[in-house]
Amino acid sequence: MASSEAARTTEVSFCPPDAVDEDLENKCLICLNQKSVFLSAKKSYEHHIDVEHDIWLYPLYVKYLIGKNNEDFNGDEIYVWECYIEGQSDWMPLTETRYLTQVTRLYSS
Ligand SMILES: [Zn+2]
Repeated sequence: MASSEAARTTEVSFCPPDAVDEDLENKCLICLNQKSVFLSAKKSYEHHIDVEHDIWLYPLYVKYLIGKNNEDFNGDEIYVWECYIEGQSDWMPLTETRYLTQVTRLYSS
């Protein structure tokens, strides 16, 4: 084994366990709900992360706001823009999703 290859192998061995991969596979990165919550509610986790909380829609929305004249913002856009400018994530649906709320309402009625 060449010394550069040995060094590369050593670097890899210091990486933390696959916590990042586990998060990516088992947690919605938008609302932070665990995959197990969706499975318990008999809802599709894949549908949720692919359609409802598609992670790419959020930066695209900010890009849309950046390109829009601020004077043409509606109320929601003003709120999101002000959060974005202040570096706040309050506009993100952290721990919330209508997808699970609807299920909760169905089961509680
Ligand atoms: Zn989510």
